[in-house]
Amino acid sequence: MSHKITVLPGDGIGPEIMDETLRLLEWIVERDPQLDLIWEEFPIGGASLEQYDKPLLPEVLKAAKNSSAILLGAVGDPRWDDLPVNRRPEAALLNLRKQCGLYANLRPARIYSELVESSPLKNHRAAGADLVIVRELTGGIYFSLPRGIEGTGEHRRGFNTLSYTREEVVRITEVAVEIARQRSGKITSIDKANVLESSKLWREVVTETVPDDIQLNHLYVDNAAMQLVLDPCQFDVIVTGNMFGDILSDIASQISGSIGLLPSASLRDGALGMYEPVHGSAPDIAGTGMANPLAMILSLAMAFRYSLDAVGWADKIEKAVDQVIASGKRTADLARDNEPALNTTEIGQAVRERLQQMEEI
Ligand code: NAD
Repeated sequence: MSHKITVLPGDGIGPEIMDETLRLLEWIVERDPQLDLIWEEFPIGGASLEQYDKPLLPEVLKAAKNSSAILLGAVGDPRWDDLPVNRRPEAALLNLRKQCGLYANLRPARIYSELVESSPLKNHRAAGADLVIVRELTGGIYFSLPRGIEGTGEHRRGFNTLSYTREEVVRITEVAVEIARQRSGKITSIDKANVLESSKLWREVVTETVPDDIQLNHLYVDNAAMQLVLDPCQFDVIVTGNMFGDILSDIASQISGSIGLLPSASLRDGALGMYEPVHGSAPDIAGTGMANPLAMILSLAMAFRYSLDAVGWADKIEKAVDQVIASGKRTADLARDNEPALNTTEIGQAVRERLQQMEEI
């Protein structure tokens, strides 16, 4: 089956990590005659503002909607920080997610046993942690209306609305159930049902949607934040709303020791998915060769798994990354004092060499 991929490198380290990922994609396509993949690259975020004075062009949105997978590097740069919210690079991302209906954000976070020393958690707490956060991505307080800032001077008031419909909660819960079935069959739903009506509905609907063969428990978000650092191994699949998921997934990202290792997928019903690292455009290291491309490469693996009908390549890429880390190769974000660090290109090449060795066995 033929698949189109829309490639959006973006800003800062985005193009650097995307180059390495496309090298890997080319390498795979050259070796697998069964894969029928074509890809096209477009600017997004600051790169698009610079060329076209808009963070997301309508033709780019159209191409994205007509593809099976969107690969996104990262957007954002301090140069654009003073623009109004709807013109900033980040607006492109929110728009893309909303317009493509990508309502389910999957963020796996795990500790590689060889990197347990890189985790800010004590070894005995971090060892064995392996979880997925399923975050609702197109509803909740980031999108509900009304919103705004009104009044003048001392009487100004900023306001947002947090609302969830039953349907929105059902569909994200169903995604979590599907993921839980592929893992240990356990879901933790996170809300603030002791204070918020939207969370009360969330909890009721999650409870009635999760089938009996899945183990379900509920936590309030404040307790969940504490539990994630106290005992991350208690979690397998977490399902939660947009803002709670945003915050909790950044906490979870630290378990692994570097944000440069964490991929994500944003899915809807049907094939289309957007695949991007959890991290941002890291302007502080852009152009230095220090960017870790593994989160982007693992995002490509997720694209193979969820959108490109090639689970075999997803497994192989993940295994190759495991082996590269196990062999002691490190980028600067992972290297400990005095450990030599590979640059973006060298670690990308190490992944391809591992895959080559796997193919030869
Ligand atoms: P960031 O994730 O870009 O960087 C945080 C820290 O992690 C920095 O020290 C950076 O050097 C490091 N880091 C990030 N990715 C790395 C990688 N692959 N390898 C090695 N080190 C890495 O977050 P920030 O500094 O808060 O934001 C920078 C810009 O990115 C902002 O404009 C922000 O709005 C944007 N942003 C974009 C996205 C996205 O595109 N999805 C997500 C978050 C932030």
